[in-house]
Amino acid sequence: MSETHYQDVLDAIAKAAVDANRSPADVHLVAVSKQQPSERVLTVLEAGCRVFGENRVQEAQERWEALKMRFPDIRLRLIGPLQTNKVKAALDLFDAIETLDRPKLARKIAEEVQARGAAPELLVQVNTGEEPQKAGVAPGALEAFLAECGSLDLRIGGLMAIPPADEPPAPHFALLRKLAERHGLAKLSMGMSADYAIAIAMGATSVRVGSAVFGERAKPA
Ligand SMILES: *Cc1c(COP(=O)(O)O)cnc(C)c1O
Repeated sequence: MSETHYQDVLDAIAKAAVDANRSPADVHLVAVSKQQPSERVLTVLEAGCRVFGENRVQEAQERWEALKMRFPDIRLRLIGPLQTNKVKAALDLFDAIETLDRPKLARKIAEEVQARGAAPELLVQVNTGEEPQKAGVAPGALEAFLAECGSLDLRIGGLMAIPPADEPPAPHFALLRKLAERHGLAKLSMGMSADYAIAIAMGATSVRVGSAVFGERAKPA
């Protein structure tokens, strides 16, 4: 078995929750397994982890289709950009899409959800830093986008954000929380290896943690 830090991260999440006067049960770990060697992923599975994040549909299919047979209670969350031509494959595999970010994608997902009669959990990605190279709905466009999702009968569970790499994350977490509260959305996916404790202090209901759980990735994301 290879060495991982799954239990340490669970302990740190619980501590950050308690420090923020929150219940540890209200903060969920999404173990981000992208680009990690299979033996590390297996170690974490055997330690009891069942919720994983992946940022590419095809890479996730390759890793998880077989593992899902062995561990049927695995839950997978897509945390990377989704092309409309991959929506079917994504809905076959993922229990949640955290990166709903544009009307065209919303329409395609709505079509598939109608056809299947079942919907994944959906989070809207917000580009809190308004970075041109980053996916996500601009904060000022969120209200109209949520209305459009509503008109497509898509139920939105919450918001997700990736703050700019070169800025302190706290103001971005605060903005995401404010937007979620304004729109009555319960779930907040924010915080990664470097800043998940801060995100929990600011209200994260799930944190997406990769390298702190598994070790460094072979190549950068
Ligand atoms: C890779 C990735 C993470 C995890 O990053 P770490 O710094 O390894 O914890 C979280 N969220 C998204 C969207 C990612 O692409």
